[in-house]
Amino acid sequence: MHLNAHAFAGAAIAATCYNLGPGALLAAAPLAIASHCLMDKIGEPRNWTRSQHTLFDGAFMALFAAAAVAAGPEMAWVMLFGAVFGNIPDIMDKRCYLSVLFPDRFPARRWWFCHRKGYEAFQPTSTHTVLFSAILYAAILWSTL
Ligand SMILES: [Zn+2]
Repeated sequence: MHLNAHAFAGAAIAATCYNLGPGALLAAAPLAIASHCLMDKIGEPRNWTRSQHTLFDGAFMALFAAAAVAAGPEMAWVMLFGAVFGNIPDIMDKRCYLSVLFPDRFPARRWWFCHRKGYEAFQPTSTHTVLFSAILYAAILWSTL
């Protein structure tokens, strides 16, 4: 699953918890990490090039930034908190995404069970991947605005 989808899910979880009460934000961290492991059951389109993956993540993360600006500074921090925790397993195993940019120099690790071979249960098409991110983006807008 892509960076943007994990960020969107984590941000929506964090915003929902925060809206229940600022103290509930602490519950968002483990929930966002759990969402990552659940969402990694869905893979990524195998026919995309590295440039296509990067462009897809970049475009949707630009939308994420726009939603954060629209939500205001307080909610933007909440969204960032959720986005980071939603990506913690990838931040650790992909070495802050250096293994995506420079796979030969920084090989990815498989410390998290959700990154081990055979964990993925689905192989989405390009359409499903874009649609899934769009739905999660709508979840952010719904939970923050
Ligand atoms: Zn992952």
